[in-house]
Amino acid sequence: MHDDIEAVLLSEAAIHRRLDELARRITADYDDGQPLSVVALLNGSIPFLADLLRRIPLPLRVESLRVSSYQGRASRGTVRFHEPALPEVCGRRVLLVDDILDTGETLRAVQERFTAEAGASDLRTCVLLRKERQIPPRAQADYVAFSIPDRFVVGYGLDCDGLYRNLPYIGVLREERAP
Ligand code: 5GP
Ligand code: MG
Repeated sequence: MHDDIEAVLLSEAAIHRRLDELARRITADYDDGQPLSVVALLNGSIPFLADLLRRIPLPLRVESLRVSSYQGRASRGTVRFHEPALPEVCGRRVLLVDDILDTGETLRAVQERFTAEAGASDLRTCVLLRKERQIPPRAQADYVAFSIPDRFVVGYGLDCDGLYRNLPYIGVLREERAP
């Protein structure tokens, strides 16, 4: 698995150090005694979510939503919701957590559905990675752990054809390993 990686972009230690900072900021921003609903966009956010949550000592609930927009390494441009219903968050503060903000189509589609249907009292977004692209993304994130160059990356939740999510770091996949 490690042999398929051309370069490590963010080491496990660098990710964890940055999560310490990000979690401190989120904790300070939400620290008023009201519970928070964290909604994880599956599957890519699983390791990020697990590591982030354990650093936030606030009353919170965890919900999830399975969405996809990528197949292999090419964005399909359409966002697919795998379940018909959104999590129950009416009247609650929501923090959406995703792995990466690339074109922003995914986050935008999810934000639009939450705004139209969920009745959350506050909606913010948190991503592990934001790609530095020439075209601005279609959605913004309130919390970003890292900005990265516009390369196709895998690991720490990010996949290629369902694989590599279990790498403990973020790396660039070797060209010949692409589907
Ligand atoms: P967007 O809708 O912002 O273009 O893309 C968001 C989704 O596409 C992410 O949640 C992620 O699943 C996938 N994605 C975008 N860029 C990458 C990348 O560099 N590597 C991988 N593995 N997935 C990506
Ligand atoms: Mg995703």
